[in-house]
Amino acid sequence: MNFEAQKKETIVLNPAKNMKRRSIPSEIREDPLTGRTARICHFMKLQWEKPDFNALVSGTAETCPFCPEKVMQITPCFPEEILPEGRLTIADMVLFPNIAPYDSLGAVATMGAQHYIPMLDFTADRISGAFRLARDFFQRMAEIDHPESVYHIINWNYMPPAGSSLIHAHLQVFSTSSAPNLMREELEAARRYSRTNGTNYWDDLTAHEISAGQRYLGTIGRTRWFTHYAPMGVAGDVLAVVDDVSTTLALTDDDLDDIAGGLTRLMAGYEKMGIFSFNMNFFTGAEGDDFTRFHLLFSPRTFFNQSLGTPDIGALRNLFNETLCMAFPEEINTMLKSEFE
Ligand SMILES: [Zn+2]
Repeated sequence: MNFEAQKKETIVLNPAKNMKRRSIPSEIREDPLTGRTARICHFMKLQWEKPDFNALVSGTAETCPFCPEKVMQITPCFPEEILPEGRLTIADMVLFPNIAPYDSLGAVATMGAQHYIPMLDFTADRISGAFRLARDFFQRMAEIDHPESVYHIINWNYMPPAGSSLIHAHLQVFSTSSAPNLMREELEAARRYSRTNGTNYWDDLTAHEISAGQRYLGTIGRTRWFTHYAPMGVAGDVLAVVDDVSTTLALTDDDLDDIAGGLTRLMAGYEKMGIFSFNMNFFTGAEGDDFTRFHLLFSPRTFFNQSLGTPDIGALRNLFNETLCMAFPEEINTMLKSEFE
């Protein structure tokens, strides 16, 4: 397993110091599995202003389709051949078809009746409850042998800076036979790795990161947490890998609790940097894909310029799929580690 990095240097003449030469470093890292590159640059203190969420949230409840007085009236239902009861519920959470589908079997799961849940108010129980609701849906799709019941994925866009079109907290839940780009590349690369080396890449990565230590955050149950060597997020990404599990459907209730508990720790850690928004994706194999391990990525989202509303994704990322991270993942690790102790 190779952790490749190309170090680069830029020289500029600084007019504030009589045109003295100034050296600005950057680094291009390669993901050890896929070779995907990630640029570590624009080194700055990871501290942002908290967005004015009160202003953002104000007035949005009146028209919210996910609030309890509307969710059972205006959200769609699945047809009887998919889900005879139309929608699934656990406590105050509701799962129903995604009205803006990007695959044939997509759902949305609300994370409760409360319209706005500030990031630090999420309890592990609420998160794991929503994961269970999604898993119930996945299990039902597996039971009816739906042709899309191959990869079972949960994505979470928390708040508008992360791509959420609504304030009301919800998960994107879908089963698909078409693995999304990065997940597919990882699966293909992990299969090759296993054939070449006779071992599982994720097991090897986990063992390496725990012994190397500089990116390791901690273990909860059988879930291993570390900052990603080649992150996509501007404030790093955190990777969680579950031992012995290759698919979403193989996660136990304890695993879901452990994942939820880890996510609340990450929220607490990133909140201290002034970040209040994030993406989280499940990465799963299909049944029998023993060459991979279930893992998730947590990626904090913020702004390049908050007062202008400039998102943290520009042309480099959008059209080249090349990423920028503004600090070394090993340094970000030290900012998050106390949450895991
Ligand atoms: Zn609402």
